[in-house]
Amino acid sequence: MEHARNSRLAQLQALSETGQSADDHLLSTQAGAIQRVLKEIDEAFARVDDGSYGSCLSCAKPVPAERLEILPYTRYCVPCQGRAAV
Ligand SMILES: [Zn+2]
Repeated sequence: MEHARNSRLAQLQALSETGQSADDHLLSTQAGAIQRVLKEIDEAFARVDDGSYGSCLSCAKPVPAERLEILPYTRYCVPCQGRAAV
């Protein structure tokens, strides 16, 4: 979890440092994507604090541990994520 957050922060840092010469649109797209992930990670930390971490925000069932390993900051279980993406 900490690792996921730190590597995103490092990516964001690298993007802002190489900013000048890179394609601005591509750069802002990437930075936006990373910032979204960072926000999700921050929200996940907040849920760890309030005790709701690991539960699906939609159906309130526990999110499987395998899924949390792949996506530690996910907010939804697989079926709810699938519904949200449609
Ligand atoms: Zn769910």
